[in-house]
Amino acid sequence: MSDLILVVNAGSSSLKFQVHEIVGERQLSMLMGGQVSGIGGSRPAFRVKDGAGECLADTQLAPEQAKDLAGAQEIMAAWLQPRMSGPPMAVGHRIVHGGPKMTRSVLISQDIYDYLESLVPLAPLHQHNNLAPVRVIMDHWPEIRQVACFDTAFHRTQDRVVERFALPQEFFDRGVRRYGFHGLSYQYIAGRLRQVLPEVAQGRVIAAHLGSGASACAMVDGVSRETTMGFTALDGLPMGTRPGRLDAGVVLWMLEQGMSHDEIQDLLYNRSGMKGMSGISNDMRTLLASSETSARLAVDYFTYRTAESIAGLCVAAQGLDALVFTAGVGENSPEIRAAVCRRLEWMGIKVCAEANADNALTISTPDSRISVHVVATNEEEVIARQTYDTISGLL
Ligand code: ADP
Repeated sequence: MSDLILVVNAGSSSLKFQVHEIVGERQLSMLMGGQVSGIGGSRPAFRVKDGAGECLADTQLAPEQAKDLAGAQEIMAAWLQPRMSGPPMAVGHRIVHGGPKMTRSVLISQDIYDYLESLVPLAPLHQHNNLAPVRVIMDHWPEIRQVACFDTAFHRTQDRVVERFALPQEFFDRGVRRYGFHGLSYQYIAGRLRQVLPEVAQGRVIAAHLGSGASACAMVDGVSRETTMGFTALDGLPMGTRPGRLDAGVVLWMLEQGMSHDEIQDLLYNRSGMKGMSGISNDMRTLLASSETSARLAVDYFTYRTAESIAGLCVAAQGLDALVFTAGVGENSPEIRAAVCRRLEWMGIKVCAEANADNALTISTPDSRISVHVVATNEEEVIARQTYDTISGLL
């Protein structure tokens, strides 16, 4: 065994990984991180960087090499094996759904695996992919310890009122409740704020994770109070291919029109959101560069609903001291941040155009009543830390 922790984040179109070395008491150092992107598409790629950001690999793959997640796993394993000083001490996985039982990361046994597999219907776009590499390692290297790190666990601090739907109790008892997601990202943001803006970290903060998936979370002193995603990762903000909040009556109407479960699922997970509204793309960069009316409408809808949700989350936080933008869109798009903040000017938010254009840590003006920040998220680092903490009791 080496002193290495392998982090695996298997998504719908990408397989991300990082290798961390245990360098001292509770100290981890990221040695390399990379991804197979564009899985199942026409232009898959493989890229790896070292801990200092230097490129270690950058290759275009043939579509048949990365036609599915299994192919992507083979590419990752073939590249990593000669570069690691032995099998990893543990592998930490991003698992989207932990259901009601999982309030923290956990060592994966066959029983835990079976429980996590039973949650696949609650996250059809993610859970199955997240578990695929776990199964491969269980089958081929059963001696390697594996840890599941959950997107839902961070939100288990929420009030019971927040977790409920206004449905009969029996549905809650059967697991129909608001779980919330992107928890690994929010945990990273809470920890990072403690390092770089400690006074902000203690206050009432709303973090907006705006990527292909999008949500926002109200935290007080780094503890989750409410988040926009609920029972599944469909709720809340509009996303790349998901609609966000939707009147349940729309789904009933679709059923009445004769659409099947699979057709509705495909529509809601893969063909809605920015892609469906614009009819052009799910990529925010493409929409921002487009002069088509449908692209403008999609972007306006995105910024309107994001601002509206941020305002709504203020009830859970009982006010707001700071707003934090993160993830692909949140970290890189001054235009989206400016548009969301413009819709929140009435709350006393003022953005400095220059700082915003530079993606600076603080983008609000000194006289803004609420400070606004840009913080890059790092879910893989949280997974490495949770994996280390989970196995360290067993070392
Ligand atoms: P995920 O990890 O959920 O796949 P990311 O957090 O990487 O997603 O975010 C992907 C999104 O970020 C894409 O929609 C992409 O268009 C958007 N994005 C990346 N860079 C920019 C940018 N400079 N301006 C606007 N959007 C951007």
